[in-house]
Amino acid sequence: MHYRRIQRVGFEVSEIGLGCEHLEQKSQALVEEVVGAALQGGVNILDVFMPQPEVRSRIGNAIRSVRQQIYLQGHIGATLENGQYKRTREVQSCDRYIQDFMTRFHTDYIDIGMIHFVDNLEDWRAVESGGVLEYALQLKQKGVFRAIGLSSHEPLTALTAVQSGHIDVLMFSINPSFDLLPEKTVIDALFDRKTYEQPALADANPLRQQLYEECARRGVGITVMKTLSAGQLLFAHASPFGAPLTVGQCEHYALTRPGVVSALIGCVSGDEVRQALRYSSLTEEEKDYTAVLVNSKRYTQSGACMYCNHCLPCPQQIDIAAVHKYYDLARNQSEMPATLREHYLSLSAHASDCIECGDCEERCPFGVEVAANMVKAAALFGQ
Ligand code: SF4
Ligand code: SF4
Repeated sequence: MHYRRIQRVGFEVSEIGLGCEHLEQKSQALVEEVVGAALQGGVNILDVFMPQPEVRSRIGNAIRSVRQQIYLQGHIGATLENGQYKRTREVQSCDRYIQDFMTRFHTDYIDIGMIHFVDNLEDWRAVESGGVLEYALQLKQKGVFRAIGLSSHEPLTALTAVQSGHIDVLMFSINPSFDLLPEKTVIDALFDRKTYEQPALADANPLRQQLYEECARRGVGITVMKTLSAGQLLFAHASPFGAPLTVGQCEHYALTRPGVVSALIGCVSGDEVRQALRYSSLTEEEKDYTAVLVNSKRYTQSGACMYCNHCLPCPQQIDIAAVHKYYDLARNQSEMPATLREHYLSLSAHASDCIECGDCEERCPFGVEVAANMVKAAALFGQ
């Protein structure tokens, strides 16, 4: 297992995390099996949005002896009404479920207090002005929350929240099909199976890319939900690409977006966990998702770099994906952040080393004009 740092708060979280949603209504034995397999494989971040008391208690029992080593994402605003899940912005109700969370997890702190499911600007304004954000900030000040998070499926809302400067961790739905959907698509509605099977894919959604880059620049860690698009990307008949991706390919896609620190996978057995955790031992070929995207008739090439490094080797030893990632992060900024320049300069070869041989462009499946981008990157970084 590899670990990544959430810069704003210094947490070192496992690249693969556990989304616990599917553990609802499962027995204590099964919860222990799934959580135990995750812990054994080095997972140290768990997302628990569910308000139901039984599943909270079961997961709480399963991690009790290792609580200090785990980063828990607990959600502010996921509650129950008449036994059914209900999202709320009512502070007293939020607090009741946060207190219940800590009781059931045998703890007096939550690593990431995650403002739950904010998918439109109006709702974000309600969070900002209606007391929920203030509640989260107060608990952070008291040390009850070590970080403040926000979960969302909607890029403009998420971007606005991140730009408020209050968010340390963004839980966001990322997979190749969501990234290629038209900007106005309501992601949550796609889980109505009737509409999901025929989405119209378009060029990479620039707003989503902007969001990831903003998070990377600000040191906000993205924890990814819907990494497998609720499993639909794994099957040809359900995938919008008309061909299946593997779990490892989906994980790799998420983990190669800027700002991402952990891909959360929902599992219902120890075997599923072990399959998800194979990621760190996969070869580059096994992780490579590009063929599925490129061969899909529904995908139109945008010329944007997907950071896959399918274009290597470069005779000048340039890590082409890394240069593109730093370039994309830097190019829209009025002032270059020092850490970004440092990271770029620490590469063993730079854009200025490019001899414009064009070999990479022949191998790039996405039609990226690499040599021209290298010239621009060299001008931007001065090297
Ligand atoms: S230039 Fe093309 S092949 Fe190379 S990393 Fe970018 S998208 Fe992948
Ligand atoms: S064009 Fe530049 S980046 Fe691409 S392979 Fe040649 S030297 Fe490397």
